[in-house]
Amino acid sequence: MAKYSDALRGYAFSVHKRDGFKCCFCGLDGTTSFDSWLSLSWDHLLPKGHPERDNPEFIVTACNFCNTADNRYFDLALKRGLKFDNMTKDELVAQRLPYVLKTRRSYRDFWLENVVNQDKIQNIRLDHA
Ligand SMILES: [Zn+2]
Repeated sequence: MAKYSDALRGYAFSVHKRDGFKCCFCGLDGTTSFDSWLSLSWDHLLPKGHPERDNPEFIVTACNFCNTADNRYFDLALKRGLKFDNMTKDELVAQRLPYVLKTRRSYRDFWLENVVNQDKIQNIRLDHA
């Protein structure tokens, strides 16, 4: 039987389990493949200095990409008019989601233009037309 260090993803396991091992932004499902599970991390919904920042209720499962998709989110919070007090976890996720999705769309466009086998692009675009 394999032996695991107590630290093996233990820091995030309870949060991942609560969230069904799915990224709360893009829905990546860590139960479908080992690689998907490896890319799960956790994401603080509250800025540094907020008294509830380290409360697990305000930490959610996020894939590595979504976690860092808008890495200036908290820096720009004031400018964007974002609020953090007296909000639920779901409200905080909903507030952040548009910023994450904007970055995802940019990366998807880049991927389509520069990474995907050019012979397959026509099919991919038709699939989502
Ligand atoms: Zn994600």
